[in-house]
Amino acid sequence: MSTTAQPFLPLTRPTIDEETINGVADVLRSGWLTTGPKAKELEAQLSAYCGGRPVRVFNSGTCTMEIALRIAGIGEGDEVITTPLSWVATSNVVLEVGARPVFVDIDPVTRNIDLERIEAAITPRTRAIIPVDLAGLPVDRDRLYAIAQKHGLRVVEDAAQSLGSNWAGRKIGAAGDFVSISFHPNKNVTTIEGGCLVMNDEREAKLAEQYRLQGVVRTGFDGMEVEVVGGKFNLTDVAARVGLGQLPHLETFNTKRRELARAYFEAFDAPAFRGLGVELPPRDFAQSNWHMFQIVLPEQRLNAKRAEVMAQLHAAGIGTGVHYPAIHLFKVYRALGWKDGDFPIAERIGRNILSLPLFPAMTREDVARVASALTTILTVHSKA
Ligand SMILES: *Cc1c(COP(=O)(O)O)cnc(C)c1O
Repeated sequence: MSTTAQPFLPLTRPTIDEETINGVADVLRSGWLTTGPKAKELEAQLSAYCGGRPVRVFNSGTCTMEIALRIAGIGEGDEVITTPLSWVATSNVVLEVGARPVFVDIDPVTRNIDLERIEAAITPRTRAIIPVDLAGLPVDRDRLYAIAQKHGLRVVEDAAQSLGSNWAGRKIGAAGDFVSISFHPNKNVTTIEGGCLVMNDEREAKLAEQYRLQGVVRTGFDGMEVEVVGGKFNLTDVAARVGLGQLPHLETFNTKRRELARAYFEAFDAPAFRGLGVELPPRDFAQSNWHMFQIVLPEQRLNAKRAEVMAQLHAAGIGTGVHYPAIHLFKVYRALGWKDGDFPIAERIGRNILSLPLFPAMTREDVARVASALTTILTVHSKA
């Protein structure tokens, strides 16, 4: 490992240009801070990106999935099929609307929900599927929608991580049923906090607007009615202005991410690394937006736990992350009946997955530094 002091390399870092910073200052000076013209403009641009489908913006990606479930009328007594290897938001929203998540184990190669196993999990109560494009690698949309159509199920695509990805050349968001996207600072483009929901028609978009702000519908100068119980999920114009400054860079950001992912593969193809038994992600340079570069540590072959590997990388000036531990083993989910061994693939990968630094401002030298430090640390901890 290098002994020269280098700046800490974080897991991720957003790139915000001066034009955006100045634009945010203008919004702050404008006298209108909360939802207004900038939010509308962001919605129009996102809708154009999604081939003209209706899009509404919100203050998180999480709430867009909850609202999609509400628009679909999913609640008490309903079941929603999803993956146990995701940010816990994916299944929390199902509980939030009073329905029950039904987990289906993952494909160990893509680390996404195993489409082969979905039909066996469908019951008369099943109403929807929430697939997740982990790390931006898209779930097979053709097979997914074939299953949904055959069984009359809604789909809420948790595309929080996959803006800029495509399936067979079709942009994520431009096709399908509900599509939920997040603009958290770790995602490929950000509004600080925020998200958007892509819908099918104006009726759904009107309902989304109601759920977004207390259920209120206004008419004329003084008319107000409340038809559904909504929440407080609107995106501020300050945040929307950040998003307007980010969207023009989506393609260049993702091109840079793809190049860095290629650099990781080149470094990891070195014999010293290949012998360690680390599982690499699929080499998809056509469809994925490379939201993350995630490896899976070979737990049987290491005499160190993931946390020790992370601590040693941290000591070498390198940030890493875990995305994610298996959801069904959290206390809240165990209390609902799930236990160890229910989804063995998601459990093994959840214990051993490790996200490496990847963001547009990174360099190939940074990638080389991560690969070198990781090779040294894993070699030291390899069982004979
Ligand atoms: C980020 C993320 C979310 C939630 O997005 P927020 O904007 O943080 O609410 C949901 N699902 C997945 C897979 C995510 O990565």
